Amino acid sequence: MTTPRPDPTPPDWTAIRADFPLLQREVHGKPLVYLDSANTGQKPAAVIDAVDDFFRRHNANVSRAVHALGTEATEAYEGARAKLAGFLKVHRDELVLCSGTTFALNLVAYSWALPRLGPGDVVLLTRMEHHANIVPWQLVAERTGATIRVAELLPDGSLDLDALYAAMTGEVKLLGLAHVSNVLGTVNPVREICREARRRGIVTVVDGSQAVPHRAVDVPALGCDFYALTGHKMCGPTGTGALWARRELLAQMPPFLGGGEMIKEVRFEGSVFNDPPHHFEAGTPNIAGHVGLGVATDYLSAIGMDAIEAREAELLAHATEALTAIDGLRILGTAPEKAAVISFLLDGAHAHDLATLLDLEGVAVRSGQHCAHPLLQFYGVPATCRASFAFYNTHDEIERFAEAIRKVRRLLA
Ligand code: PMP
Repeated sequence: MTTPRPDPTPPDWTAIRADFPLLQREVHGKPLVYLDSANTGQKPAAVIDAVDDFFRRHNANVSRAVHALGTEATEAYEGARAKLAGFLKVHRDELVLCSGTTFALNLVAYSWALPRLGPGDVVLLTRMEHHANIVPWQLVAERTGATIRVAELLPDGSLDLDALYAAMTGEVKLLGLAHVSNVLGTVNPVREICREARRRGIVTVVDGSQAVPHRAVDVPALGCDFYALTGHKMCGPTGTGALWARRELLAQMPPFLGGGEMIKEVRFEGSVFNDPPHHFEAGTPNIAGHVGLGVATDYLSAIGMDAIEAREAELLAHATEALTAIDGLRILGTAPEKAAVISFLLDGAHAHDLATLLDLEGVAVRSGQHCAHPLLQFYGVPATCRASFAFYNTHDEIERFAEAIRKVRRLLA
């Protein structure tokens, strides 16, 4: 019989919050309540210091110089790739480092899809995709004669799985799917969906932007073919991120951008490309940024992704209860599996006006269409306000947020 392990010490969320210098500031004379982490996350001092230290002590280009700094920079950059690979449970050679999800999805579109799709082929997308997982497929469809098919949602913002599977017909070559919706917070059953897609020979491209910062993601266990993520939502610097691809797919894909770093040999008669994943990393990369991203993965791992998921579930439950109690407030997206994102509308207030008035109370929420026009068209609304939470938010901030909305309501009455 195995002895049950004692519960690990719960994280000290107050101390963790203190790691984020920006969260200590005020806006409009009020303590900042930052509820826009789905847009971009705040950075802990460890990440800021790592970027600073790189520029102060190690700055050089990667893979070019043999001098000491060149070696240090290359080791730091490749070390970051290894850290991120460990975080996602993938092999480092399957991870293309790039500027973020937008680049990663375009890479799949141009390098994998463009040479393979043709008239009659279908790219299947869900209604809840971010524009980054729609527009590249439209561009490729235009050039190949393929068409886009949309998998619709249920009113609560879950995917209609029966409709999705019915839409997976023989013409579908590729499925683009968000792991977690940036507008509704819906967590899609990616593993099950990828299994169904694979049974039908459909290649799966998962947009993990809103999943990786908030829960443990074992990428190979999902059974997808491509997984895209962005660093700036997971405590890392902007302009960082990665595409994971199954090794055999990566090996079959031609380069997307040409230039230095991605070649072994160049002659005017033709060039020999570097091995994957380096043949997708043309030019000087965001070295310091990725070093920071590597440190961000250490930071998140030290807290524990399961603890982060549990903390954010608590914050979501609290915020949902507090907002539901406000007369005239409507929440869009109430799927049973939901991450800590709340899109909402308040009777009598345009989303931008509401966000502006909340800002005056120190509360930062995003308003607009959240780079998801087709999703807002589904709900028939021009814009929403969106509050998105991270583990560094507090229950006290949720109370202040709800109070700020009540104040706006009184002002508008
Ligand atoms: N997909 C989703 C679901 C997102 O939330 C975002 C960022 N808003 C992106 C893609 C694009 O990420 P990036 O701009 O970092 O490339």
